[in-house]
Amino acid sequence: MVNIFEIYQTLFNFYGEQSWWPAQTPFEVCVGAILTQNTNWKNVERAIENLKLLNLLSPEKMVSVNIKTLQAAIKPVGFYRKKALYLKNFSEFLLRKGGLSRLQSLETQELRNELLEIKGIGKETSDSILLYALNKPIFVVDNYTKRLLLRLGLIKNSKISYENLQDIVEKEIKPIKENIKIYKEFHALIVIHCKLKCKKKPLCEECTFSQVCYNKQNS
Ligand code: SF4
Repeated sequence: MVNIFEIYQTLFNFYGEQSWWPAQTPFEVCVGAILTQNTNWKNVERAIENLKLLNLLSPEKMVSVNIKTLQAAIKPVGFYRKKALYLKNFSEFLLRKGGLSRLQSLETQELRNELLEIKGIGKETSDSILLYALNKPIFVVDNYTKRLLLRLGLIKNSKISYENLQDIVEKEIKPIKENIKIYKEFHALIVIHCKLKCKKKPLCEECTFSQVCYNKQNS
């Protein structure tokens, strides 16, 4: 069975560097992390393009813009009424805290707890913001992570909690600043791999793990 670091290395060698998150500013990362909930990235790109055209990609603008205008701009992502409120909630939080750069000085878990108190910010969203916008050493878990680790035999129970899954990765690749780059790449690589090969119906014959995969050996 492969271990966590071998999975990372194998994916990196196969797909190369991904350089996530695709955004021009840390605030744009945060907006993307909120908008990508329950939708695909193409829709997020369309919404972000609309926000750019309206010059709304700053917390100040996001707070002051008319809610209907914001809803119309982000309509491509679905659940746009809720997500418009989430963007406003998050932007108000940022302004209250003195901006993203001020947040950087806070300890990771303390900041995570504060983010999780904002309506509309769940665990995956908070950790994406922490890792990709604030450069904090925390691994982002998603359904793709669970699928891949289940199929590779590193976990047995699909009901495993978010934090337990996160711990499995962070026990092997420690949450220290030297590993931030690996965390950024690893999450991106898992997403790419599960979109291209380890899909719901996996393409095992084309997969770089086909010789070691628990699911492949048992399929
Ligand atoms: S061999 Fe198949 S199930 Fe295993 S990781 Fe690759 S695509 Fe997924």
